[in-house]
Amino acid sequence: MAKIGILGCEAVNTEMNCVMIGCFGNLRGREGKFKDYPAEEPLDLVGIIHCGGCPTAVGTGRIWQKVQALVDYGIDALHLTSCLVQLCPFKDQFIATIREEYPDLKVVEGTHFFNNEEEFKTGVKELLSQRAVTPQRMNDLVFKRIKFT
Ligand code: SF4
Repeated sequence: MAKIGILGCEAVNTEMNCVMIGCFGNLRGREGKFKDYPAEEPLDLVGIIHCGGCPTAVGTGRIWQKVQALVDYGIDALHLTSCLVQLCPFKDQFIATIREEYPDLKVVEGTHFFNNEEEFKTGVKELLSQRAVTPQRMNDLVFKRIKFT
């Protein structure tokens, strides 16, 4: 049995309400980045943790703590989510730290494939900036410009 842990992007999880449907679906179906495991080997998702969030520019080293929380449960492999792989500017530093701290741990870049990586990035950019559909905030209430359904 392969004991698997997943490391995800905090921003995608908290800002964009990602429920990791692609990650789990591909794991269940042994597709995407999970298709290279031997067919006879059951896959056991031990747990999921997220990076801790930006700002990270001064502190990629902390990733070892996050991964340790999964290593404590004896994971054989750590998959970085495909979102993290595509979007995180610190991905390579994360991987270098993880490989140094846990040399026996198999590190896999990704969980699933994207139909169109550029479309995905453009969509995430809009989700983060929210320019097309402006969200309402407390100031809208304070300045009495709030709209009601
Ligand atoms: S450090 Fe990378 S993975 Fe973590 S929140 Fe920032 S962009 Fe996402």
